Amino acid sequence: MTVQWFPGHMAKARRQIQEKLQLVDIVFELLDARIPYSSSNPMMNEIIKHKPKLIILNKVDMADPNVTQQWLNYFKEQGQPAITIDALHQNAIKQITEASKEILKEKFAKEKAKGLRPRPVRAMILGIPNVGKSTLMNNLAKRKAAQTGDRPGVTKAQQWVKVGQELELLDTPGVLWPKFEEKRVGYNLAVTGAIKDTILTLDHIILYALDYLIQHYPQRLIERYHLSGNFEDKVAVLEEIGTKRGFLQSGGIVDYDKVYEILLREIRSLKLGRLSFECPKDLNQETVSE
Ligand code: GDP
Repeated sequence: MTVQWFPGHMAKARRQIQEKLQLVDIVFELLDARIPYSSSNPMMNEIIKHKPKLIILNKVDMADPNVTQQWLNYFKEQGQPAITIDALHQNAIKQITEASKEILKEKFAKEKAKGLRPRPVRAMILGIPNVGKSTLMNNLAKRKAAQTGDRPGVTKAQQWVKVGQELELLDTPGVLWPKFEEKRVGYNLAVTGAIKDTILTLDHIILYALDYLIQHYPQRLIERYHLSGNFEDKVAVLEEIGTKRGFLQSGGIVDYDKVYEILLREIRSLKLGRLSFECPKDLNQETVSE
């Protein structure tokens, strides 16, 4: 389903999130580990203001481990706590709870010093569509998922989900809009499947992806499709892939639509291995819109 974001929707999403922010100690900003910058909301920090934030790079099982390490280093340099998870296959409760407690340790120490009783960390998940918010919610709520009921100051519909002994999550993640301005971001979202129907055409998405793969993962392309390694002309590369895989129409002409479809499917299903489409150093190459 394509969600169109109009200014009214954005203002509403922002307002609703800002209301809920008052209820939580910390925000979990969920990003796609393959494209941490492209999968972030352009106004995140402005929306959450000074609320502590844990960046959670999800889908780490699909991302290039070397590049993921570069991202972790990058966030560390910025003084921004970040962890990686695979919400689909691995339980993430312990990691997220520990990281949150570490970020909030001063706040909790102050509460303790004032004589307040120990309490769970309260958090909410935020992110653009398809980064894995529902998957993470299910992951965290899997065991002993108990809703703790209404609290004073919380609207009736607002429920808390208890995660282990030390964490409570707002049951509905906040959905924010993606970045629209930068072309590269649109391509990254399309290649990774975060936006399915887009104004970008399939051939442009494939040419973008192929260009990135040629620059960063040439050997993987060569091995997967038994290519010669001559990458000068991208259309010729597509033709070579089509020929090698036997995607031919009558008259021996390469069926490019089939090549596009297979290439995109194989990128998304890890047939070319774990791929990242964005490195921290890419950020310096163009103006960052934030
Ligand atoms: P939401 O829109 O943010 O709630 O995203 P979803 O939870 O619906 O996830 C979008 C897609 O990503 C689904 O097909 C999930 O199965 C998949 N997904 C979510 N988390 C992970 C993960 O950690 N690893 C992998 N491989 N897939 C994931």
